[in-house]
Amino acid sequence: MTTSIIGFPRIGADRELKRATEKYWKNEITQSELIKIADELKEKNWQKQADSGLDFVSVGDFSFFDNLLDTATLINLTPKRYADLNLNPLDEYFAQARGFQNETSSVKALPMKKWFNTNYHYLVPEITPETNIQLVGDQLFTDIEKAQRHHQKIKASIIGPYTILKLARYLDDAQATDFITAITESYAAIFDRLNELNIDWFQIDESALVFDLTESEKAVFNKLYQSLLANTHNFKVNLQTYFGDVRDIYQELIDLPFDGIGLDFLEGTKTLDLIKQVGFPTDKTLFAGVVNGKNIWRNQYQKTIDLLRQLPVSSDKLVISTSCSLLHVPYDVDVEDEIDGRLKQHLAFAYQKLAELHDLNEIFFNCDQNKLQTNAALFENINHPIDTKVRKRISNLKADDYQRTPERAEREQIQKAEFKLPDLPTTTIGSFPQTKDVRKNRSEFKHHEIGQATYDKFNQAKIKRIIEWQEQAGFDVLVHGEYERNDMVGYFGENLSGFAFTKKAWVQSYGTRGVKPPIIWGDVSRKHAITVAASTYAQSLTDKPVKGMLTGPVTIFNWSFPREDIPAEESVTQIALAIQDEVLDLEKHGIKIIQIDEAALREKLPLRRSDWYREYLDWAIPAFKLVHSPVAPSTQIHTHMCYSEFKDIIPAIDNMDADVISFEASRSDLSIIDELKANHFETEVGPGVYDIHSPRIPSQAEIYQIINNILAKLPENKVWINPDCGLKTRGEAETFASLENLIAAVNQKRSELG
Ligand code: GLN
Ligand code: ZN
Repeated sequence: MTTSIIGFPRIGADRELKRATEKYWKNEITQSELIKIADELKEKNWQKQADSGLDFVSVGDFSFFDNLLDTATLINLTPKRYADLNLNPLDEYFAQARGFQNETSSVKALPMKKWFNTNYHYLVPEITPETNIQLVGDQLFTDIEKAQRHHQKIKASIIGPYTILKLARYLDDAQATDFITAITESYAAIFDRLNELNIDWFQIDESALVFDLTESEKAVFNKLYQSLLANTHNFKVNLQTYFGDVRDIYQELIDLPFDGIGLDFLEGTKTLDLIKQVGFPTDKTLFAGVVNGKNIWRNQYQKTIDLLRQLPVSSDKLVISTSCSLLHVPYDVDVEDEIDGRLKQHLAFAYQKLAELHDLNEIFFNCDQNKLQTNAALFENINHPIDTKVRKRISNLKADDYQRTPERAEREQIQKAEFKLPDLPTTTIGSFPQTKDVRKNRSEFKHHEIGQATYDKFNQAKIKRIIEWQEQAGFDVLVHGEYERNDMVGYFGENLSGFAFTKKAWVQSYGTRGVKPPIIWGDVSRKHAITVAASTYAQSLTDKPVKGMLTGPVTIFNWSFPREDIPAEESVTQIALAIQDEVLDLEKHGIKIIQIDEAALREKLPLRRSDWYREYLDWAIPAFKLVHSPVAPSTQIHTHMCYSEFKDIIPAIDNMDADVISFEASRSDLSIIDELKANHFETEVGPGVYDIHSPRIPSQAEIYQIINNILAKLPENKVWINPDCGLKTRGEAETFASLENLIAAVNQKRSELG
């Protein structure tokens, strides 16, 4: 055995699974039709892997929604409230993923969280004292049997017990350590079933080992695997890790009787050192994660071969593998017929990565020089478009360019005098509902069915209507509504040089939802003014301040496929300068308040605390500061973040030196506010007062109560009142009703304050 992948995408190259699943949800196809489509997709994936020369086909990585939910369901973690619905297994599964509602019952979905440092989301398993962990499902086993009809060598995979226990949410005093025996027994029962199926490898994913580990966490891991591996098994067990290195537990891993260990050599910055320093046992197979499962650039074979040659592992014990599941890359470059050929030859999506594994194998084991040279030639000509102006601008940057003056307290006084806003100023996060007509207008323009003038005229009418609505509703700081954009990153990417776009390069974000990240290909600069026309038009309609609305450099970078030839820091700085040009342009055209969204800043925070600053915040925060540092003291800079889990990085957030920050607090019971207070947070804050992710309309009384809760902890001259995120996914009726209640609640509070 020589090549393997950790997992494969499953939504289908044409998003077949997405479409079928959504049809099933709308009762447009039957369950057996959906299952048939899923089975065809699985077989197609397996056949593709076999045709590409992979030694094993991968089973267990398919999912109707989420792998973690699959494993949780397999071992009976389904909470009782879903089981009580008495649905068939697939519907019960979907009920956990999406919630369920009919005439008699209504159950919310399980909470969703970001999967490690990716933009993929998993459903958080729930464990209570009543949870009765045991093997109940059989999806994994029937999938293996299906694969065996056409393929001989099978590698099955599952998410491991340690990662399940680590990521689960515990209720009512339940604790992970209470479930060690039960979960080990349930995995032992899985071993028993697999013993009957004659597979080659069983891959157990324990990616939670790449976090910082405490002694007690290590003890839990050891306990789990000492007893699990004592069970007889006629297949080999590979303990698979990814998204980092396993520096805290490497010794224990190699001491346990695993047959194989899978390590990430790309994000695992310490992996190679660990192997060199501690060694690797001769009786184990090393699954070397060297083909990038997260990015879309071709593998540089010479570099990879050099790395593989350094490994103290005999060639019959070495497997060339991916750094993580290919779930995080799109399917196929070949269908992208509009990408510039100069760029396209450097791209590798999942299909191409299968071929790369095969190539590397041929080079490493059979010394195929031809393949090596062709690949080397490619890298000699990797002409990322260079912009000397941008490069020069960066080399001229000085410390002062990152620092706004005067300091915030002084600016606050200047701005209070400038805007004369009432106490508890009200605003929204930017977008208003993207109704059908809005999307139709954009799509007709994109497909050249209407011209620029018609397109603009429609959007201007929308802007006019929403400005009037906000004025009449009583908002203090208005927005233009963002009708011209559907994606906060794609919209800016299209107007910056250096970005490339794909047609079908979808990557699963959660369930049936995908994103199509742009590719950062060359040096980045602003081609032309981007938002100035819409913002100034909106401002011309009202005497109240209209907020300019931009996406920040860290978010643009984090939601794109990054370059690998220059450091992240340099790329982000280029984007920051491009957005700075837009900020200054808005300011020059009379826009006095500018919001720079950093929705994805928290997402790429390194998994290990010790890496937070050195590897990330030390350049991410300065990049944001660079964007707004040259504005006048009276120009007010806002930022917005789509989460409230920044408890541990509050000082870094304050250091962004914005004047106002809005964030999502309503779903976290406002607990973040205590932390802000404890950390002497200085930025003015708008902790969203209601959850826009639900169509529910919050009452005036409810919002009033939330305002009271906020004011119990924060001084009223620091507080803004706003919803917790953009409104584009909502309907108009519920949005207008909710916002009217928000204003009524604020007015009630203001008249009390006098
Ligand atoms: N300004 C953006 C909007 O309102 C912010 C989106 C976001 O935070 N994801 O849509
Ligand atoms: Zn948001």
